[in-house]
Amino acid sequence: MSRAAGETVLDVSGLTVTFPGPEGPVRAVRGVDYRLRRGEVLGIVGESGSGKSVTSLAVMGLLPPTAQVAGSITFDGRDLLTLSDDELNRIRGERIAMIFQDPMNSLNPVYPVGYQIEEAVLAHRAVSRAHARERAVELLDLVRIPNPRERISSYPHELSGGMRQRVVIAIAMANDPDVIIADEPTTALDVTVQAQVLQALQAARAATGAAMVLITHDLGVVAGQADRVMVMYAGKLVETGDVEPVFYEPRMPYTLGLLGALPRLDRPAERLTPIPGAPPSVVDLPPGCPFSPRCPLSTDLCRDTEPELTAVGGSAVDHLAACHHSAQVSGAVAQDVFAPGAAGDIGAVSDPEATVAAEGPR
Ligand code: ADP
Ligand code: MG
Repeated sequence: MSRAAGETVLDVSGLTVTFPGPEGPVRAVRGVDYRLRRGEVLGIVGESGSGKSVTSLAVMGLLPPTAQVAGSITFDGRDLLTLSDDELNRIRGERIAMIFQDPMNSLNPVYPVGYQIEEAVLAHRAVSRAHARERAVELLDLVRIPNPRERISSYPHELSGGMRQRVVIAIAMANDPDVIIADEPTTALDVTVQAQVLQALQAARAATGAAMVLITHDLGVVAGQADRVMVMYAGKLVETGDVEPVFYEPRMPYTLGLLGALPRLDRPAERLTPIPGAPPSVVDLPPGCPFSPRCPLSTDLCRDTEPELTAVGGSAVDHLAACHHSAQVSGAVAQDVFAPGAAGDIGAVSDPEATVAAEGPR
């Protein structure tokens, strides 16, 4: 679907975001490029603090005024970074909609949910209240809220967390946006409810044809939903491409590590291998690859020179990785790299007892 659709709807180029901080500039986003094609789902994954939310808040023009933003964000032929607040307001909500982790941040507790959906419709469309109400019922039905005609009168607190998030999705869809950005939309929900919310998101996409940026720290969510994926670390993309090559043949040890921490139905015998350590502070990044302190494959080159994103999949495959040792990673699984004693010995059978010990230092 992604490749058939083809046309770029959002083009982010050279995006950097820096916040002033007491200990020096916080380099939250350090040069991110991506293109979102019409109708596709692009997953953004990475541990907490990697710059996923800041990247998307920049697109929405929702960063605090202290943020220093550079680069360009082209939507519908215009650079969003150059638009006035009024112009941005017209695009936000109507053409680009955003869904956050906590639906209560998006819903007003004192109004019924139907009224809030109507308001979203009326904000961008010259239609009657009655028409907006019909649209609200239709939207609640689309996100699979049972008895939508009765439910429009419910207040947010009368709904479960999963239902509230579906209402937020209904609001996001209200004006047939071109792009929906969903930032950890299922993170606050338990697993069964997560599945329902993801279904609602899919229904929203199918009904509107919107492209979606799906941000999550959960690779499992991306695997089931996305056409393409971007892996972020310390404010940069470290691996990106179509979901299949990135998931089945990752070329950056960090991606391999994220996958190793994910239970897989197709490899039930494999032990989960966590990545040791924690992401670096982006205030005072040393030179070199930011992942190198945690990377068993790291060499002097990695400590000196930050690797660029480079094509790793051959000309026919959309797959880039930023790793000096991406060739060595090819074909490896997380245990080969992250199990203690496995470093530099890719392909050797790792000691499963040692993997348990690796869960200690966190
Ligand atoms: P993620 O969404 O991947 O968990 P974020 O994009 O929220 O990460 O944050 C990236 C970095 O930017 C973090 O180091 C975070 O502390 C910092 N950051 C985010 N928002 C602000 C802000 N308003 N002021 C200062 N630093 C911020
Ligand atoms: Mg975030």
